Amino acid sequence: MQLRSRAVAESQHIVRAVRSPRFASSKRLKEAIVKSEPEVAAKPEVVVKPEPAGTVEVGPPAQTPSRGKRKAKADPAVDTAIPLYKLEIQDAKDKSDSVVKKPKTAPAHWEDVWNGIAAMRAARTAAVDTQGCESFNDPSLDPPVRRFHVLVASMLSSQTKDPVTAAAMERLKAHGLSVANILATDHATLAQLLRPVGFFNNKATYLHKTCAILQDKYASDIPPTFDELVALPGVGPKMAHLTMSAAWEKTVGICVDVHVHRISNRLGWVKTWNKANPKSQDPEKTRKELEDWLPYDLWNPVNAMLVGFGQEICLPMNPRCADCGVRDLCPSASKKLK
Ligand code: SF4
Repeated sequence: MQLRSRAVAESQHIVRAVRSPRFASSKRLKEAIVKSEPEVAAKPEVVVKPEPAGTVEVGPPAQTPSRGKRKAKADPAVDTAIPLYKLEIQDAKDKSDSVVKKPKTAPAHWEDVWNGIAAMRAARTAAVDTQGCESFNDPSLDPPVRRFHVLVASMLSSQTKDPVTAAAMERLKAHGLSVANILATDHATLAQLLRPVGFFNNKATYLHKTCAILQDKYASDIPPTFDELVALPGVGPKMAHLTMSAAWEKTVGICVDVHVHRISNRLGWVKTWNKANPKSQDPEKTRKELEDWLPYDLWNPVNAMLVGFGQEICLPMNPRCADCGVRDLCPSASKKLK
């Protein structure tokens, strides 16, 4: 039930972003979106109330310059029963200037593409929706333990499919997933619990080293900043960004995994694909290019949206372009379709 609730909350997250004034002028896909999400508008119990004025606490890193604010037109076709995205509430005007960027070099039609992908993702049927790292952000746990679970899930997720990560997390939870209990578990046992997660032996070593640091420096909680997280053994930028957003609810950068990297390049949103050596890719370049134009309030939802899209439609091999709702706007759509 918790996973389902989280999936619904995530769905609301993308829906609120799509229905925000940012997208009020995007008409090409609005009808399809509204049709694809009737249950969201019809069920008041899943409508998230707007954040109270002045509660916005997060923003892009301080070094990111403000780029002004996009003017939003009122659109009677937009269902006003759905609350606006929390970063665009009126009373947060002074803060929104620092958190909502007007893209300077945004790719053409990116909002239509976003809306189209959000429509395809409205049903939330991808593995990431129920088995991604954020699904281990269990509110019933003590906050330090809850945050530790998110960090462990993100560490295991590297080079590993979501269902495999989720199964390993369930084994760890049954074993007792706390800093103290992992430190009390010998390497061979821990590695067996992780198997068949990718690089399970190395990850068992990293987990032990990380737990020792968490116990000594952070009272068995996880560090509260990106820089401290990424300094932990076995924690890369992707995991640190995901953990900051999910565990601390502070988005300081886009979590770019292989799906986000691949799809952003296919869509022409970035040009960071290493054609000379496809096996050597640098998702960090994609993160920087995306952060240069993608509005800050979409930095968090873009990960789950594109990961799920990559799991179901825009597959790594043989993308299902014939079933894709944005094929007319995609420069990489199968040539047979054009
Ligand atoms: S048209 Fe094909 S390549 Fe382009 S986003 Fe859709 S599935 Fe991916």
